[in-house]
Amino acid sequence: MAVVYNFSAGPGVLPEPVLREVQAEFLSYKQGVSIVEMSHRSDTFGTIVEQLETRLRRLMHIPDDYAVLFLQGGATLQFSMVPMNLRETGRFAYLDSGIWSKKAIADAKHFGDVIVAGSSAASNYGTIPDWPEHIQDVDYLHVTLNNTIEGTRYTKLPDTDVPLVADVSSNILAEAIDVQRYGLLYAGAQKNIGPAGLTLVIIRRDLITERDLPSYLAYSKHVDTLLNTPSTFSLYVAERVLAWVETEGGVEEMERRNEKKSKLLYDALDTSPLFYALVSGKNRSLTNIPFTTGDDATDEAFRQFAETRGLIELGGHRSVGGLRASLYNAMPLEGVTRLIDVMHEFEQEGQD
Ligand code: PLP
Repeated sequence: MAVVYNFSAGPGVLPEPVLREVQAEFLSYKQGVSIVEMSHRSDTFGTIVEQLETRLRRLMHIPDDYAVLFLQGGATLQFSMVPMNLRETGRFAYLDSGIWSKKAIADAKHFGDVIVAGSSAASNYGTIPDWPEHIQDVDYLHVTLNNTIEGTRYTKLPDTDVPLVADVSSNILAEAIDVQRYGLLYAGAQKNIGPAGLTLVIIRRDLITERDLPSYLAYSKHVDTLLNTPSTFSLYVAERVLAWVETEGGVEEMERRNEKKSKLLYDALDTSPLFYALVSGKNRSLTNIPFTTGDDATDEAFRQFAETRGLIELGGHRSVGGLRASLYNAMPLEGVTRLIDVMHEFEQEGQD
């Protein structure tokens, strides 16, 4: 079978050795029982969850005064759980850096007053808003650290006493994140961690308080325990993916590779006579690279041209169109060089 490179923004590509391992173990993880038939309260499954947490703590250098929660509902449920659980004054600050942050803002409005402390809407989200100079009297400041759709990211953090909350769905484990600078981090797992169905929340323990909330929605009910049946398959695969990340050299090595892969593609786009990147400058994402020819029909022709050559999922997000290559941890360098070759081939065809 010809090699296929999957540039999907999510669910994203997973390491092939992990997929093979999962396939080999699927019918019988232990004593003829499949992992998806196993009680989440069994010792065998308990060990998997423990290992997953240990690996995540090691990879992200998560200190003991932070709890790690394994939830469901995607990053989208966190758009509500964050304000529900961190609500003190009922005033929340948000940076409006793209479509996902807009959705987070819309949901937070159900639980209090949202202060939009910065917005890059005027640049059509081709840039990121600056950190606010002075922010106080709010329960937290929320940021989407990597904007999956628009292809921008933050690399610097502000000096602030207000707890920082970050959506790291599309850059978790792809680049170093200084956990101690945040009050709370959350991420849907389906890009860099494992299959859909698992959501990670990393929260400083002093921010967890008992709340008068339905049990699933209260962080306090999930601390150091599985409240209900989790997405067991996703947890199991995530543990294997994290083992792979550790074997490959950890997050620092992933970041080094992602820097290299994204630089290759940005350089190709910056010198192409046909394609160009939608984001310029220092806030370009390492993981999500939107680009275009400037013409919808030519973009679509390229998407199809690439697909017939085994490069799939290069369409931009349905809300913005154009093209986008997502370069998560499991995308090998060869996938990027192949994409660049196919771009050159397409440019040549246009001249013939
Ligand atoms: N936030 C970001 C930055 C995303 O990229 C996504 C999905 O792509 C979401 C939130 C929504 O995540 P979910 O589908 O897990 O709810």
